[in-house]
Amino acid sequence: MKRLSCLYICFFILVSCSNEKTETVQIGNKKTEILEIKSFDDSEIPKNIILVVGDGTGLNQIMISRIAEGGLDYKLAIDQLPHQGLVLTHANENIITDSAAAATAWATGFKTKNRYLSLTPENKILKTIPEMLSKKGYSSGLVATSSITHATPAAFYAHIDSRYKEVEIASQLLNSPIDVALGGGQEFFEIGKVTESYNLLTEKSSLNDDFSNSNKILGLFDKDGIVRSSEKPSQRDMTNFALTRLLNNTVQCEGFFLMTEGSQIDWAAHDNNVTMMIEEFKDFDLTIKDLVNFTSENEQTLLIITADHETGGLQILKQQDDSVIIQWGTGRHTAIPVGVYAYGPGAHLFNGVMDNTEIHYKILEAINFTNLEESTCDLK
Ligand SMILES: [Zn+2]
Repeated sequence: MKRLSCLYICFFILVSCSNEKTETVQIGNKKTEILEIKSFDDSEIPKNIILVVGDGTGLNQIMISRIAEGGLDYKLAIDQLPHQGLVLTHANENIITDSAAAATAWATGFKTKNRYLSLTPENKILKTIPEMLSKKGYSSGLVATSSITHATPAAFYAHIDSRYKEVEIASQLLNSPIDVALGGGQEFFEIGKVTESYNLLTEKSSLNDDFSNSNKILGLFDKDGIVRSSEKPSQRDMTNFALTRLLNNTVQCEGFFLMTEGSQIDWAAHDNNVTMMIEEFKDFDLTIKDLVNFTSENEQTLLIITADHETGGLQILKQQDDSVIIQWGTGRHTAIPVGVYAYGPGAHLFNGVMDNTEIHYKILEAINFTNLEESTCDLK
């Protein structure tokens, strides 16, 4: 009898596990907008670097967003970049990475423990790209739809053993070489300290003001992550503002580095909320569209797009009439490789299969970092 009830329990577990909830996603009918893509010689060297991160954005998240937008043959902006590769994302001694270890890999070229920001697993400080480039006369900017102290942007300026120490991370930002930082996270900053070194923006409308003669800019548009509404700036709004600022800085500076993150694609995937995920992806892809056009106009710019990891184990199961059936495998991150996409001088370096740390070294190789001369860029 005991054995029989055990069998029943096992049977029910099996049935409930194999019968996970599926959802339908309507196939969209938007027409592809073809973007102008210029060709670049492999010997050309970029001055400016733009790194676009889709947090939690695997090939499957891109696939379902493409289908929802314009159907099976639709081309997103990200689909139109001329060079692509695959990225292995594991953290130090862990097949599953978090955003902190992944962003540390891009920012410093080193694998670290999950939760660690630009420190080795032994707590040694690792130099980040903005820190390295500031010695070469570059200006740097960061954009995120999360708080600007969240793991991905923080790895580019903070050195700390926990991504969750956001008050400390905020104070490290104020002493960093970051010239433009836009996102959420007011609650982590001492506002009096911010205004000593940064122009503080808190309203979306300020992004239309002219800051051409001002010093560093910190935009904090929400208490923590940006709660999405028409009153709040999108990733696209903040990225275009940061680009204008950074391009303007190149009058005095040697070039710029910009990292812009669609942070909440990951949050929607953690919630297994496909509708929200597709909405978040739209902002990300519109940002990419503007950046592709920027790169075509400003030919000394290398545009790189990637993800830190896939989130949710999203499966695209089958087509049913004018819809597609999807199912989530987990509420957590997975180890599935992600894509990397590139356009501009140096973009050919991003073809093939690579480790996430290689993105750091490929950026340095593209700008010929070892031969850049020492320089400073005083924005005052
Ligand atoms: Zn996540």
